[in-house]
Amino acid sequence: MNTTDMKLTIGHLYPELLNLYGDRGNVVCMVKRCLWRGIRAKAVEYHIGDRIDFSKLDIVLLGGGSDREQRIVCRELKKVQKEFKRYVEDDGVVIAVCGGYQLLGKYYRTREGVIEGLGLLDIYTEQGDGRLIGNIVLDSGLSDVPVVGFENHGGRTYLCGHKPFGRVLYGSGNDGVSGYEGVIYRNVTGTYLHGPLLPKNAQVCDHLIERALERRYGPIELKELDDRMELAANEYICRRFAGKKIAAGC
Ligand code: GLN
Repeated sequence: MNTTDMKLTIGHLYPELLNLYGDRGNVVCMVKRCLWRGIRAKAVEYHIGDRIDFSKLDIVLLGGGSDREQRIVCRELKKVQKEFKRYVEDDGVVIAVCGGYQLLGKYYRTREGVIEGLGLLDIYTEQGDGRLIGNIVLDSGLSDVPVVGFENHGGRTYLCGHKPFGRVLYGSGNDGVSGYEGVIYRNVTGTYLHGPLLPKNAQVCDHLIERALERRYGPIELKELDDRMELAANEYICRRFAGKKIAAGC
């Protein structure tokens, strides 16, 4: 099948609440990288009170938010937890950042109380002492070049046997001590990387697009794009923060 006959719908959940550090840029990046290949991609925003029909979606994006906003979103998504779970188990693609990542799990315990999560994954999060803030570089199976980003979270996330998104080369990651960052389960990627993640890491973006198209249309190979600028930016960040480790092959 020709890619110009393919369509892809991205559900952007609660952009007015989960919108830290330009997470919206992830949506723009996915749409653009599809359009540049002739794939008809569109983004649909869902706001509090909207009905979400997961069968219409190919990619679900949850951005980052403060504890207060997470609580509101969790309460809302609980209403469609079963449909969301079915989507995940049916290999629906999800990209969830920071607060959005935390709420995929069983719970997020803060000093103000426990925010019950959606329980789509077995992970859980506990608020720690101080925040883990700064640039971060990862080695991830989803990209040939290191994944780069920025993290800012008070929560420490524990994977309970799930696979991480990457191994930390520089920065804190899930809990500041395990050396791992994010989670991967089926076609769900959860991560603390804001920044936004996808424009900085084009291969991760293409991975999500590819999985979503494969789910709907069967095996596909995406046309290469000219990523010289993205790769140069990535290389600069890698050299600046994790140069020695990468040179040593760690
Ligand atoms: N409220 C969460 C925390 O501090 C998530 C913050 C965020 O999304 N940046 O851990």
